[in-house]
Amino acid sequence: MTPATPVPAVRENAALPPVFDTLVVVGPGLIGSSVLRRAKERGGLARHVIAVDIDPAVCARVAELGIADEVMEDAAKAAAKADCVMLCVPVGAMGPVAASVIPAMKPGAILTEVGSTKVSVIEAIKPFLRPDVPYVPAHPMAGTEFSGPDAGFVTLFEDRWCLLTPLEGTPSAAVEAIRTLWERCGARLRDMTPAHHDRVCAIVSHLPHLLAFTICGTADDLADETRSEVLDFAASGFRDFTRIAASDPIMWRDIFLLNREALLEMLARFMEDAQAMARAIRWGDEDYIVDRIERGRKIRKSLIENRQA
Ligand code: NAP
Repeated sequence: MTPATPVPAVRENAALPPVFDTLVVVGPGLIGSSVLRRAKERGGLARHVIAVDIDPAVCARVAELGIADEVMEDAAKAAAKADCVMLCVPVGAMGPVAASVIPAMKPGAILTEVGSTKVSVIEAIKPFLRPDVPYVPAHPMAGTEFSGPDAGFVTLFEDRWCLLTPLEGTPSAAVEAIRTLWERCGARLRDMTPAHHDRVCAIVSHLPHLLAFTICGTADDLADETRSEVLDFAASGFRDFTRIAASDPIMWRDIFLLNREALLEMLARFMEDAQAMARAIRWGDEDYIVDRIERGRKIRKSLIENRQA
């Protein structure tokens, strides 16, 4: 039997009325350009999409890629045309960029962002909010170690979680519009408080990145001949860490500094557990070692069952 040819899911949302008339994406990097691609290739997000970047070279590249209807350098000018402005810039830049776009926005237009930390980003944006511009913070839990407009792809958010951390008093229509936008990007949605979000992300994302950067640093500090052996013989364990450690330094600097408390708390707990493992190895506590490894295997199995591996 000839295997069935997979039907491409091209413009699967095209028949649906778009969530927004005009969507402005500020920061067409990995995340922003993936949203733009989704809007252009699958439809259902916005009738007109505008990409904004401060760097003319990035603007030229976005225009060349053809992933936006319009490309602009002036975020405020673009925001004035928007029904929704989505900030996809590094978390440390969210406050200043929000300050420049919010005064230009139309009454009723929605502000949203995709920052990987929530408490600090909300605090940075709050002073510039207007009562007639609803703000819906979101965090699509999807990414790769690559950045920039060439790194994005249309299926990045497929089956990934997008966490919404809506603020009290936000009109429910605005929250629902952002929820629908992410659903049409292929994501699964969950609401939580900003503080809870930051603790969850500290353990599932920020601590693993910290460990990856650290272990690569340790390998690099080793004596010259051992360091070259690390490169020659890196087995999958070390190789997997290097993929995470290849992530953008500015983005991760910002995330570490802006989720400081939750990250330091998770690191302290990790170090206690690592000490306990060291003790078990020193004293030959086989049961403890096997129990820890089995717990890791169980987590991996649940991830695979949940289609998150
Ligand atoms: P990225 O690929 O580096 O893209 C960042 C974009 O922001 C670039 O277009 C960059 O422009 C622009 N930008 C940087 N500083 C700016 C400023 N001061 N004003 C205006 N634009 C500025 O990063 P990304 O991975 O897409 O991350 C973007 C956001 O998504 C971050 O807040 C991050 O926390 C969040 N996020 C990331 C991931 C992930 O795994 N990567 C996952 C979920 C959420 P230039 O190229 O011209 O500098």
